[in-house]
Amino acid sequence: MKVSKFGGSSVASAEQIKKVLNIVNSDSERRIIIVSAPGKRYSDDVKTTDLLIRLYEKVINQLDYTHKKQEILNRFKDIIDELPLETDILTEIDRTLESHIATLKDQPERLLDALKSSGENFNAQIIAAYNNEQGIPTIYLSPQEAGIIVTDDPGNAQILESSYDKIKEIRNTNKKIIIPGFFGYSESGHIVTFPRGGSDITGAIVARGVKADLYENFTDVSGIFRANPTVIKHPEVIPEITYREMRELSYAGFGVFHDEALQPLYRYRIPVVIKNTNRPNDLGTYIVHDRQINHDKVVSGISCDKGFTSINIKKYLMNRQVGFTVKILKILEKHQISFDHMPSGIDNISIIMRSSQLAGKEQKVLEEIRHYCEIDELNVEHDLAILMIVGEGMSATVGTANKITDALAQAGINLKMMNQGSSEISMMFGISTQDADAAVKACYENCYNR
Ligand code: ASP
Repeated sequence: MKVSKFGGSSVASAEQIKKVLNIVNSDSERRIIIVSAPGKRYSDDVKTTDLLIRLYEKVINQLDYTHKKQEILNRFKDIIDELPLETDILTEIDRTLESHIATLKDQPERLLDALKSSGENFNAQIIAAYNNEQGIPTIYLSPQEAGIIVTDDPGNAQILESSYDKIKEIRNTNKKIIIPGFFGYSESGHIVTFPRGGSDITGAIVARGVKADLYENFTDVSGIFRANPTVIKHPEVIPEITYREMRELSYAGFGVFHDEALQPLYRYRIPVVIKNTNRPNDLGTYIVHDRQINHDKVVSGISCDKGFTSINIKKYLMNRQVGFTVKILKILEKHQISFDHMPSGIDNISIIMRSSQLAGKEQKVLEEIRHYCEIDELNVEHDLAILMIVGEGMSATVGTANKITDALAQAGINLKMMNQGSSEISMMFGISTQDADAAVKACYENCYNR
């Protein structure tokens, strides 16, 4: 059995929805379908979820929201008219939006989550009703009916372990089931959304709950590229990568698949395939637990993410001091700052984090480090980019680091820091933001085109 999830651009219009249903109905193993809200139809279109957030802003600022609501109704009306769908869902959509606004306007976080969830919720109802009208027995299942019970943390829900038993029950159905992605219900019955892009997470949770043989994640590209296609023209598609590799790549900017979506799948080793709704016969990228290493291509992917800051600390004889790092980390903990890398030498240590983590806290944090840690030197580097070279095969292959540093040296790129994790599936390089694209190009050339 497969669980198939279709992202926003795959369900953005009536034409796209018909493609989705052709894919769904052509395979009897595709029984449980997760859908996003209508996404962008063209590059400067606005996603329905963003329209819903704008509606929320109007309501919360007590401004006239009729125009914003109408824009959302029009998005769905276009889909309904064009399919065409006979069941009258539009009145119900309007009624539900008004009811969220009326009942939750004094609870901003709840209202935001309820409105944000509506994009997927209405789309799932439309898609299920249309498939049914076409003669394919199909039901819409709300996340509550499906058993998706989550923590009560608005905008940042986490699945409760106890949900999986309930989700398992939906396996026993012979109809197609359409479930909206992106949200669940708290134990107290409130709608709570996952982080943005969270329909991938719903798909993964359901795939794990029903112990699917495969989790298909349909999007608008034919798999995961070895590097960002806005930097490299027509990069190769990765045929197969491991969960660990995917986690490293998505952390550092590969946005095709939500990094939190791997967690439910990992333990049960449920494979994922990233496929293209517009080219369903393309093989796509498989994300699996183990794979055979291709020694000609030990580097699976190259990513580079911007927006990092490094706090660099020097202390003479640092290696001899017990508890020095703990003191620094305690200060970060006190300010609720999480960091990503911590390369160190005998007398120095750098702590690298996303710049957003330090925003508004930098002065205070630096003052406290100076005051409590008896350091010799302290400086901060902003505008850092993190270049990640990822590949399972690197641990068994000599010379990958050389290949990368050579490419970067030839491109005249200064390496500010380097770090290789003990798992040896990734190498991290800190570089200046302005060198980010050139670094990816140089590494890509050296790894795949020579
Ligand atoms: N519609 C939501 C978003 O735009 C969730 C998703 O599409 O996965 O973030």
